[in-house]
Amino acid sequence: MRWKTSGALTMAALATAAAAVIIVNPVSADVPACVVDYHVDQWNNGFVGQVKVTNNGAAVDGWTLTWTFAGDQRVTSSWSAGVTQSGKAVTARNQEFNRGIATGASVQFGFQATFQGTNDTPTDFALNGVRCNDTNPPTTTTTPPTTTTTTPQLPPPGCPSGAFCDGFENQTGTTPAGDWSLMFPNCQGSGTATVDSSTAHSGTRSVRINGRAGYCNHVFLATSRGMSTSGQYVRFFVRHTTALPESHVTFVAMKDTNDGGKDLRMGGQNRALQWNRESDDATLPEQSPAGVAQSVPLAVNQWACVEFGITGSELRTWLNGTEVSGLHADGTPTPDVDAQWLRRGGWRPALANFRLGWESYGNGDDTLWFDDVVMAPSRIGCS
Ligand code: CA
Repeated sequence: MRWKTSGALTMAALATAAAAVIIVNPVSADVPACVVDYHVDQWNNGFVGQVKVTNNGAAVDGWTLTWTFAGDQRVTSSWSAGVTQSGKAVTARNQEFNRGIATGASVQFGFQATFQGTNDTPTDFALNGVRCNDTNPPTTTTTPPTTTTTTPQLPPPGCPSGAFCDGFENQTGTTPAGDWSLMFPNCQGSGTATVDSSTAHSGTRSVRINGRAGYCNHVFLATSRGMSTSGQYVRFFVRHTTALPESHVTFVAMKDTNDGGKDLRMGGQNRALQWNRESDDATLPEQSPAGVAQSVPLAVNQWACVEFGITGSELRTWLNGTEVSGLHADGTPTPDVDAQWLRRGGWRPALANFRLGWESYGNGDDTLWFDDVVMAPSRIGCS
């Protein structure tokens, strides 16, 4: 990651980094009133902007940071600040939790935006009306930077504190990379997992699974990020083209180290959503007609919000914000729901990874897109 330092650094930073510094607009000595580091990760016609504001003036309680876009950049969402735009003029306002910036302290926020053509760094940042960066001719110039600064990546919009969130916007190729790796658990056939920049729940990218029937066509995109053995909530959006079949299929699998490394699987059977335990093939709900009736189909050709939570031995599941009663293992055997699931006592999953993809064990082709995956220690919601 490369930060564009579009203003002066502090003297401390100057002393420790052979970085490119233009010292301008001094407030006292050579320290500017505020410094804005502005970084973008961009793709074809969109970008995520990450902004770090360092206040070298008097402490502020409540702030706005303003700037002007040079091109036709348009902010579509933001996090850790409320960002509004009027024409080319942008105003970012603090949220309650980061309203104070002590002298020498920094705040960070981010936004997502679209653009056409060029995407130049703004040059007129101002904190509470005070210019932050090089509005005056430089008084000192040093060598351009040859090193990059690594700064923790801000989460995407709506990402809860402490969560791992991925909307696949930082994927640059067709093959998923970074936090995700491809797996062909049995043998590699015609099942594929690719980054798709033509379909997305948010932003411009998602992951597309071409799921094909047959043991040899199993394919997954796997990550171990965000998984915890001490309680786990997951939220993702999924869109698919083909109704869940009668046959058993899986589109989420998680390796359970408390179950011999076998998978806890979410998918479908008898045309409705179900959980399945690879180790003993137990299902939730039971696949009786009364059990299946307590689950729900997964509608086609529209984005669905799937959430589940695992706390101890309890497993709960929500579809579009509504709990699915047939997908709830609550520790008390309920006929047609979790009686079979609980027949084997002591189930308490410890999940080591999270995989999105497709496994069919007989029949079942489907094309699926996944986006906006979140793993967190508490329930996430669909917004
Ligand atoms: Ca996305």
